[in-house]
Amino acid sequence: MYLSNLIGRIVEKQYNTYKVQTETGVEKAHLKGKIFQTIKNKSEFPCVGDWVELNECDGTLQITRVLERRTQISRQTAGNVTEEQVIAANIDYVAIVLGLDGGRNYSDRLLERLTTVAWNSGATPLVILNKADLNDEAEYVKFQAETIAPGVDIIVTSVEDGTGINALTNYLSKGKVAVFIGPSGVGKSTLTNALLKKDVQKTNEIRRKDKRGRHTTSTSFMFELESGAYIIDSPGLREVQAWAEEQNLDDTFSEIAELSQYCRFSDCKHEGEPGCAIQAELERGYISPERYDSYLHLKKELAFLNRRKAEKN
Ligand code: GDP
Ligand code: ZN
Repeated sequence: MYLSNLIGRIVEKQYNTYKVQTETGVEKAHLKGKIFQTIKNKSEFPCVGDWVELNECDGTLQITRVLERRTQISRQTAGNVTEEQVIAANIDYVAIVLGLDGGRNYSDRLLERLTTVAWNSGATPLVILNKADLNDEAEYVKFQAETIAPGVDIIVTSVEDGTGINALTNYLSKGKVAVFIGPSGVGKSTLTNALLKKDVQKTNEIRRKDKRGRHTTSTSFMFELESGAYIIDSPGLREVQAWAEEQNLDDTFSEIAELSQYCRFSDCKHEGEPGCAIQAELERGYISPERYDSYLHLKKELAFLNRRKAEKN
């Protein structure tokens, strides 16, 4: 039997082996040989969350085409920083998880970086400040984070005592797709497990870590929650670095973007030009020097990256 143009969604990926959800259930699928010839770079490979066209030939599913993505979260390909690797597609929320337990699990600068990556995805960024049980000033950190990630919803959670889990669940309604990004140890897997509750087998899958707490699985999954929402868990998400277009900085640093219309020169770089509104607000203390430095630093980093990317293409 030969069926063509079935539609499915990729729910699991391990190297070039896929599982797709179709109307009839979850099945294995392979990339059709011809698709390789038309793929110009890694970002065009199907990934978890992708809607794909399939052919069925003697009971075997072949992926023939990736449908246009609504949103996508990417990172730099290991060993080739100018190449974009898409980790998950068609996501609704990029939830940036940070820890309130001190140390490196929260910093304004990290929040700025991850917010930029999140805006770049096209999905809605969310900030989760986890481990509230370990910090008496959780609400104060939230207040501060609101100025660092303007326009982004921030949820304070604790998997330990259940704080904020309902607030998080409110975002995860039927059909919504979320990914968690953030440094190791902030509670991404623990949060996922708390949301999954009953799903013991998949919980074990997510918990599979080596002695140093690193995830050893190379598989990306899309899990369905009871609500009908999905969470994508991928090893690639654990090492997301700055990867964005420079214009995404206007979302992350929206107060700087807004003020820059008052700079004397429309192409002001805010680096000491006369009549610079940013410089003026810096002197007045409205913009902190740390945030200003972070802005310039990220801008240069992304400009460098995008220049190298453009040279290669
Ligand atoms: P991941 O690397 O981001 O996936 O972090 P994990 O989910 O592995 O969590 C790292 C550690 O933090 C584990 O020991 C968890 O039990 C602990 N943890 C996670 N969430 C919370 C929380 O809300 N409160 C406390 N006190 N510990 C937590
Ligand atoms: Zn300026």
